[in-house]
Amino acid sequence: MDETIEGLLAAIQQGIEKASTTAQLEEVRVAFIGRKGQLTRAMKDLSELSPEERPRQGKRLNQLRQVFDSLYEARHRRLAAEEEDAQLAEERLDMTLPGRNPLPARLHPVTRVTRMLEEVFLRMGFSLATGPEIETVWYNFEALNVAEDHPARAMQDSFFVDLPGYVMRTQTSPMQIRAMEEARGRVPLRIISTGRVYRRDEDATHIPMFTQLEALAIDRHLGLADLKGVLLTLAREIFGASTEIRLRPSYFPFTEPSLEVDISCVVCGGKGCRTCKDGWLEILGSGMVHPVVLRNGGYDPDHVNGFALGLGIERVVMLLYGFDDIRLLYQNDLGVLSGFGDPLAPMGSQEGPLL
Ligand SMILES: [Zn+2]
Repeated sequence: MDETIEGLLAAIQQGIEKASTTAQLEEVRVAFIGRKGQLTRAMKDLSELSPEERPRQGKRLNQLRQVFDSLYEARHRRLAAEEEDAQLAEERLDMTLPGRNPLPARLHPVTRVTRMLEEVFLRMGFSLATGPEIETVWYNFEALNVAEDHPARAMQDSFFVDLPGYVMRTQTSPMQIRAMEEARGRVPLRIISTGRVYRRDEDATHIPMFTQLEALAIDRHLGLADLKGVLLTLAREIFGASTEIRLRPSYFPFTEPSLEVDISCVVCGGKGCRTCKDGWLEILGSGMVHPVVLRNGGYDPDHVNGFALGLGIERVVMLLYGFDDIRLLYQNDLGVLSGFGDPLAPMGSQEGPLL
């Protein structure tokens, strides 16, 4: 029996030492202390020993079992840790690797045209102002001289929210007031604001959420000529150098005088076609800032004046790409949207990849 125990000890040490994976170690465990393992069998063999011999050998076998357990535990801890490390290394995600089948990503046409427009204004010395899409009735209507009985304030035209005095902004114009307040009477003030606006409206040319650009300039001696210069620059930067503009008298509560601005037709160049009929396309509204609006923004209309313009960005997108259903832009149809690839390229101001 003594020899058996010596042999077992050596075999256990060697077996555990040689196991280089937890799977191999498990085989060693079964080989020694499994139901038919060598150590298990030696324990059973104790019954064949004489009553005098039995306790001594039993004690030795128990010690051997303890040795086995502690060797096994230590080895198992180490192998398991090594295997976990290897697995982690193998499974590590490299976020910088390219996708297996990368989608050709590009900006949404509205985003792209918005950035084009912003760039044109930034080059003219305007800066970008952003504001909340849930606006107070004061900023959205009252401060802009939109009377309480104005049709735009009717329930059927605006989205009111469950908070008295608030509305989903129907235009980017509230940013005029916010920018004026922030400027605290300083001149010149030149800002643009782009973003989503909300109206209860839906047909081929209107959707409940669309995107506007608002521009505001305030200074001491601004006139219609300054406004016209900005409008012409804008039209030619976006629609091409030969574009002409036409100004028509109009009415908006926040400007006086107010102008409707047309551009020479992008399809026929002004000769007259199915798209334009008379050679002109209505593109935006503008005017000299109404004295009441200036006063509401903290400016003295006796000393400064200003001009403002607002345009629907989707309208520009539709003219640039030549389609007439605004809803196409917001149906999340990749087939349609990817068709809006590079056709902006002919318009100058193009820069390489879309993203
Ligand atoms: Zn035309």
